[in-house]
Amino acid sequence: MSKDRWTEILGYLADAATDVDLDPDAKRRLESPSKVLEVSVPVRMDDGSLEVFTGWRVHHDTTRGPGKGGIRFHPDVDVREVTALAAEMTFKTAVMNLPFGGAKGGVRCDPTLLSLGELERLTRRYTWEIMPLLGPDRDVPAPDVNTDGRVMAWLMDTVSMARGEAITSSVTGKPLAIGGTAEHAGGTAAGVVMCTRDVFEELGLPIVGRRAVVQGFGKVGGPLAFLLHSAGMRVVAVSDVRGAVTNEGGLDVAGLSDYAALHGTVAGYPGGEPIDAADVFGVECELVIPAALDGAIDADVARRIGAQVIVEAANGPTTAEGDAVLHDRGIVVVPDILANAGGVTSSYFEWAQNRQGIAWLDGVAAERLHHTMHDAFAEVWAFSQTHKLSLRRAAYAIAVERVGEAMSVRGLFP
Ligand code: NAD
Repeated sequence: MSKDRWTEILGYLADAATDVDLDPDAKRRLESPSKVLEVSVPVRMDDGSLEVFTGWRVHHDTTRGPGKGGIRFHPDVDVREVTALAAEMTFKTAVMNLPFGGAKGGVRCDPTLLSLGELERLTRRYTWEIMPLLGPDRDVPAPDVNTDGRVMAWLMDTVSMARGEAITSSVTGKPLAIGGTAEHAGGTAAGVVMCTRDVFEELGLPIVGRRAVVQGFGKVGGPLAFLLHSAGMRVVAVSDVRGAVTNEGGLDVAGLSDYAALHGTVAGYPGGEPIDAADVFGVECELVIPAALDGAIDADVARRIGAQVIVEAANGPTTAEGDAVLHDRGIVVVPDILANAGGVTSSYFEWAQNRQGIAWLDGVAAERLHHTMHDAFAEVWAFSQTHKLSLRRAAYAIAVERVGEAMSVRGLFP
């Protein structure tokens, strides 16, 4: 985790405000989260003892619609990180032109040390504590690091029990049995690959046979490696928290997935050479995709990266210093708020279907995802070319302008 991602986001906001001549009042409003709820989460542990965890739910801005953003369970999570992630959601939903604002939640805990029962009690009590902020028209959580469909199902059940009605649209990324969608799980990875195709095309680079490195092999990195391979790329290195594996000729991604499912890690996969997880960014390639935690590409790493293109699947994987180095070196970066927005876009489709009470026909969500990603990429690319700005700066500019316009037409209450 970057030590001060929130300060970095304020920097991106300041640049964007200059680029689009944002109303200074709107800028001031975006410099503070609209709501920050800190909760204490007491949990009865299996051995009879009591542990008290700390959790947060933050609304950064809800001018354009209900708060949208994931819930993260991680030992390093803190309120500044959650606030930064919530702000990124404001700008992500805006750049994608989805009718949502930005929110995020987190509980400081190490879920690998919790039993299933402890995890469920923690999830339900946390949900109960943040309940005043939740609801389909207020704030709609989704999975993030170390949370999944099972956690979302407990969350939906807790909200539904409390309100006395089944509220499927209270959360996205749910299991299919309670209104989830087949497209959600792969939505982020699919969107990353769509952005990769678009940026390679704009740069005049063929995608087939090019080498890709993926950091992280979780809910995003796992399917992503597979999709890159299916697109004809050679996935030459993959890492996770426990290690990394490389193969110049391209890893057998299906074999690697089977191995990781069995062993819980890519480390030790026999179809490649083992390397240190920290060295994965030094592997020669044309494309780097960080899909783990934030702060992975600092100035030092940025100087070592040999790729021409970085597509940010993780949230905040590049520090502001790292970003400056990449910019100076002419490496093209597709920023997180655009590149990984396939996840929130798929969430929007799930929420919309739950609210409509009708499941869309097969293929409709995938086609809409393609159009939404492609249009957003094209807009950001065009803005960056016209104004001679990096893709990150262009994406923030478009997003900030949209939020500013929404604030302007809604006015200030009271
Ligand atoms: P996850 O918990 O499923 O997977 C995280 C992966 O990163 C794991 O493979 C883990 O081993 C690896 N990892 C952790 N620390 C590492 C390190 N130091 N070096 C190498 N690998 C490391 O999480 P996820 O849902 O795949 O999310 C990954 C990133 O994508 C996060 O930044 C998240 O905010 C972002 N994101 C996720 C979604 C989504 O739909 N899940 C959507 C948008 C953005």
